[in-house]
Amino acid sequence: MSRKGTLFVITGPSGAGKGTVLKKVIQSLDRLYFSVSATTRAPREGELDGVHYHFLTHEQFERLIAEERLLEYAQYAKNYYGTPLDPALQHLEMGEDVILEIELQGALQVKKRLPQSVPVFIAPPSFAELENRLRGRGTETEEVILQRLSIARKECAAMDQFRYVVVNDQADTAADELRSIILAHRCLTENRGFTLE
Ligand code: 5GP
Repeated sequence: MSRKGTLFVITGPSGAGKGTVLKKVIQSLDRLYFSVSATTRAPREGELDGVHYHFLTHEQFERLIAEERLLEYAQYAKNYYGTPLDPALQHLEMGEDVILEIELQGALQVKKRLPQSVPVFIAPPSFAELENRLRGRGTETEEVILQRLSIARKECAAMDQFRYVVVNDQADTAADELRSIILAHRCLTENRGFTLE
């Protein structure tokens, strides 16, 4: 089997529940590598360096940009976020599927750079529900919440540029849908790497 993995790019506004849905999918599928992003944002309570993010200074992040070691990067709510290039490529080479959970600008960069990647948009059921979820988290200040809501409206306007849309009303149903998308791609003839003898 010389099959290469597929790159799944999951995007959607902050508060759509991307993290919850992805956790369920990652726990239930093998051969799936979740890319750990780099960011200049400060860690939230309970977040670990190297697990949730690689937490970097602005200088460290800008060095990664200069050395072209990021697959994509973007500025979001005054911080940098980016996908380390090497680990993603290595896992794809090993035949594992790779999942990126990134915001819109980065997702559009990946779409251009790797057109064979599979873009998936995770949408909230409504803006009212999105606001409830962002406030319910209790992790952000009012200023940050308003900033994220304004970005969310712009992100949702770009939804039709994505091949798949999963509406996260119930996390279990949304996880089933995302899992189905991944499994269907594994079944594509060109991804099987299989011949009958
Ligand atoms: P948060 O601060 O809530 O962890 O993330 C803020 C936004 O940045 C989310 O929409 C998240 O998907 C996005 N994000 C996380 N990692 C990356 C990355 O590597 N690249 C880009 N472009 N966005 C990212």
